[in-house]
Amino acid sequence: MAITYKINEIFETLQGEGSFTGQPSVFVRLQECPVGCSWCDTKHTWEAKPEFSIPVKDLLAKKGDSEHWSVLSVEEIIQLFNQQGYQAKHIVITGGEPCMFDLTPLCHALEQQGYSTQIETSGTFEVKTTDACWVTVSPKVNMRGGYPILAQAMERANEIKHPVATEQHVDDLKSLLNEFKVTDKQVYLQPISQKQRATELAIKTCIENDWRLSVQVHKYIGIE
Ligand code: SF4
Repeated sequence: MAITYKINEIFETLQGEGSFTGQPSVFVRLQECPVGCSWCDTKHTWEAKPEFSIPVKDLLAKKGDSEHWSVLSVEEIIQLFNQQGYQAKHIVITGGEPCMFDLTPLCHALEQQGYSTQIETSGTFEVKTTDACWVTVSPKVNMRGGYPILAQAMERANEIKHPVATEQHVDDLKSLLNEFKVTDKQVYLQPISQKQRATELAIKTCIENDWRLSVQVHKYIGIE
């Protein structure tokens, strides 16, 4: 049986975070996440309630955040890209928590079509994808869902992008890097909000540790 994915939205924009900041990208947002971050800005993706299942044509017409989702196969996703006439050649698979699912068939098919692929994950589920896929792990430590950060995810990561608002978040990241002996990956600190305090803490900590700052550029320039 063809593998399918529950999808909350698909849209073309610029990547606003991490190493690919500024890169024209098609975002594929998967439905479902049990991690439970209190400050999550995509809580509408947490559950796939049957009453919010909609046809693909309605998914494309969606405006703003909503709990509605559609089921698409790999072939249908690629067909949809062609129909929509997307020009971006970089695909970001996000969520929700995309690594609840095996993303290998999707990323493989996209790469066969000439796209580059990227996954954004919380590091709490095993990362299943192609070797060529760029994996961004944004470790979500001690969240309500009770999922630990996995060594496999930290090892597979091409970049670590850590949300930060307090000194405790910085300490959490240092503990993780130490625990998993991460020494060879690019580390980004990303203020959880656009509040000055979080940004100032991130800047100071980046300078102290030779990490990079990621500031969610899309939120500053008002794009999705
Ligand atoms: Fe939200 Fe991501 Fe946390 Fe899930 S892992 S609760 S989608 S921020």
